Amino acid sequence: MKRAAFLDRDGVINRKPPEGQYVTRWEEMQILPGVAEAIASLSGAGFCAIVVSNQRCVAKGLLTILELDSIHQRLCQKLAKAGAEITEVYYCPHDEHPPCGCRKPAPGMLLGAARAHDGQGQLRLLPEVWQADCELHQWICRELNGGSLSGGGAGSPVDSF
Ligand SMILES: [Zn+2]
Repeated sequence: MKRAAFLDRDGVINRKPPEGQYVTRWEEMQILPGVAEAIASLSGAGFCAIVVSNQRCVAKGLLTILELDSIHQRLCQKLAKAGAEITEVYYCPHDEHPPCGCRKPAPGMLLGAARAHDGQGQLRLLPEVWQADCELHQWICRELNGGSLSGGGAGSPVDSF
């Protein structure tokens, strides 16, 4: 059984750009203080850290998938040097319209991660520690945890921060 912590990127791992602006170059990626230590603690507690991030800057043509992948590669390398291992980075490159299945609060990235990292594709959360994506969190509770907002708990295959 694997346990995963899902981390948003902007505002959680790196300084969130002002509304309407995006990290489009590595030089703009400012890792927040304490992040490497926090991720290392997660690993120490048996969680793999998975990043799930909406990046519609790709759909807007502000950077390419290759450039975004390169930024994420450097981000993972820099964190790894500081002792923090990111298992995988998932992102949605689409814009809000037309709606896609992966842009949060849609659950596509979490479901994809659950499938990739847990053969059963099971997904349960520790809702009390999910802070950023309330709408997504509620969807998961409704769809996968039998409608209970207190679903998940000790022993869940995939948990969320
Ligand atoms: Zn998408």
